[in-house]
Amino acid sequence: MVEITGPVRVRFAPSPTGFLHIGGVRTALFNWLFARHYGGQFILRIEDTDEKRFVQDAADDIMSSMRWVGINWDEGPDIGGPHVPYVQSERKALGIYQRPADNLVASGHAYKCFVTPEEEEAMRAAWAAKGERPERFRFRGPERDWTPAQVAEAEASGKPFTIRLKVPFDGATSFSDLVRGGDQITISNADLYDLVLLKTSGMPTYHLAHLVDDHIMGVTHVIRGEEWVPSAPYHIMLYHAFGWQMPTFAHVPNILRQDGKGKLSKRKDDVSTNRFWERGYLPEAMFNYLSLQGWSYDDKTEIMSREEIVERFTIDRVQASPARWNPDKLKDMNGIYIRSLPSADVAAQLMPYMVKANMIADPPQPEDHRYLAQLTPLIHERLEELQQAPEMLAFFFHDVTTYEPKLLIQKQMDAARSIDMLRAAHAALNSIEIWTISEIEERLRALVTSLGVKPGQLFGTIRVAVSGRTVAPPLFDTMAALGRERSLSRIAAAAVSLE
Ligand code: GLU
Repeated sequence: MVEITGPVRVRFAPSPTGFLHIGGVRTALFNWLFARHYGGQFILRIEDTDEKRFVQDAADDIMSSMRWVGINWDEGPDIGGPHVPYVQSERKALGIYQRPADNLVASGHAYKCFVTPEEEEAMRAAWAAKGERPERFRFRGPERDWTPAQVAEAEASGKPFTIRLKVPFDGATSFSDLVRGGDQITISNADLYDLVLLKTSGMPTYHLAHLVDDHIMGVTHVIRGEEWVPSAPYHIMLYHAFGWQMPTFAHVPNILRQDGKGKLSKRKDDVSTNRFWERGYLPEAMFNYLSLQGWSYDDKTEIMSREEIVERFTIDRVQASPARWNPDKLKDMNGIYIRSLPSADVAAQLMPYMVKANMIADPPQPEDHRYLAQLTPLIHERLEELQQAPEMLAFFFHDVTTYEPKLLIQKQMDAARSIDMLRAAHAALNSIEIWTISEIEERLRALVTSLGVKPGQLFGTIRVAVSGRTVAPPLFDTMAALGRERSLSRIAAAAVSLE
């Protein structure tokens, strides 16, 4: 059991390189849960130092996706806090990263490197020519051994340079990880290379920038994706080089694709948070499902409220083995959450989908709200995504224009008997005075007896007549909601279609 004592300050530090991937939300969520469980603070920081991959509006998308799931932050770009600004490019403009980089050069932990990308490529090729595997090339700059005079000369010539970390050739670097029960992860320094800390543009790399910011912002626990484990040794070296207090690391597991083959990917999988929003996932369901991607309470409890999850979330229940994405399970869970809501709430949430599908005009009128409130209970049980509603309810808004005879004609029936049945139903229903569910049911059940057919034969045919389909909400309720006129005219039209 890992004890967490002392203050807790954590951060989620996304790079605005595109829409927020669902795995990113999971990592944000774990940070947020950790902060809320221990009464600490949760910081949002935008790490936009990679100019090449920057995507306009991505930061806004990240923030709106997080808000949608219900992850709020105590300090961040939009709300400020004691360490403004919370966007790294703005922090760079204030010169926040330059001095620490210069200090590392002065203390001999880093050096100015004048090697151009072309030269680095040539070094790699020479390495490969020696029969070494190219991917094992571990860059070490020749400037490591330069005298101050040599460096000064190169600088005076105006050659651009990067600042690189001077990684020892031998020895090993270890750190412990909370997710692995505090076990040590050790990496041999020979497997590392001289990492760029400051680019020729003066822009820090992620490695330098996040570390300086974590230090300044007083981050106590670095909870981030497992893909950062290979970078952690550099970060450990940097903390030692600066002489700064080290945060505690917790690398949370990757999320694998449903088939277990590889990580969830932005390219191959439907993982944009916005898409789930659009498809009608409830934030509560998303929150609950994501909390279980790498964490569990007791290996069996699945449905938990936000409050329960906050209360139960401890890092020792975060697993080291990868999580598995299961869209079907998420859908099931969404269905459970939808069913737990009162129908009136669901109806209100369905309205935008109905408008978007052009079934209800924008803006909806009071009678539209009333009608949708009447229809929603008919599909409430079966809904797993709110976006399914327009399709499920289409026949209430559009006429059934064509009938497929084979759907109208039930087992052991033929066209002639089906026409008779439809005509008899039309006559029986036509005599109803007040069009209610119970009246409709009574007439049709009486008809089953008088015609000597099976209930499924009559009801099946009528279902197809009024809805055009074999799977539809409960028949009598459907007809009541559809109204006398439309029900009767569709039954008549179905009979004609069989003639
Ligand atoms: N900016 C990094 C990312 O987008 C943050 C990694 C970290 O949390 O240290 O993944």
